[in-house]
Amino acid sequence: MKRPQKSSPEVQPQMAQLVLSLRTQGVTDPLVLAAVERTPRDLFTPDLFKNRSWEDSALPIACGQTISQPYIVSLMTQALTLEPRARVLEIGTGSGYQTAILARLSRLVYTIERYRTLMREAEARFASLQLTNVITRFGDGSLGWAEQAPFDRILVTAAAPEEPKTLLEQLKPSGVLVAPIGKGPVQKLCRYAGDGRGGFTMEVLCEVRFVPLLDGVAKEQ
Ligand code: SAH
Repeated sequence: MKRPQKSSPEVQPQMAQLVLSLRTQGVTDPLVLAAVERTPRDLFTPDLFKNRSWEDSALPIACGQTISQPYIVSLMTQALTLEPRARVLEIGTGSGYQTAILARLSRLVYTIERYRTLMREAEARFASLQLTNVITRFGDGSLGWAEQAPFDRILVTAAAPEEPKTLLEQLKPSGVLVAPIGKGPVQKLCRYAGDGRGGFTMEVLCEVRFVPLLDGVAKEQ
């Protein structure tokens, strides 16, 4: 008879290896690294790619979407400069991997996804990880979540064609928004920081490849 195991024995070294690789790539925030270490990525990957869960690469998920590369997830989380009391809006739940990491580092995460299937699967993962501070919504995230605005932080995990004005309007005056911006296959990862008086400064962090932010909800669920 097999003994019940809390986690598969080979996962732990792979997880540590991934965190080490993130550190050497310049992710220095110990809280971000700890959140990655405590979030089992194999819970978020489809069966076909389970054995690649600990690779530092993006992988396909249902509905033709992708789970982001751990390095990019970490970089974006670090760029958000989260605080434990922050209320965060995330656009593009996808697998929910990025959401889970945000949830470990902030008070409340509001997350919006345009595929109902992805939303439901992600909700089940949040429940299994006992992440009770995630609030989900099936809808068009490019409109933001006006009823819950303003937010301390906003993270967009799909490529916005241009500066996301509607989302910037839902950010607190001293808030931070991080989003990939561009119309082509390669976009610029941009960080907007509020100056406290209604203005923003924008900094380009690096080049990234995200699926596009699309209008409306998906017809196929
Ligand atoms: N952070 C996710 C990556 C998801 S990929 C992860 O780690 O798994 C981007 C997601 O954004 C996709 O699931 C896509 O369906 C979603 N998306 C694209 N446009 C959207 C919109 N307007 N509103 C909400 N979600 C959107």
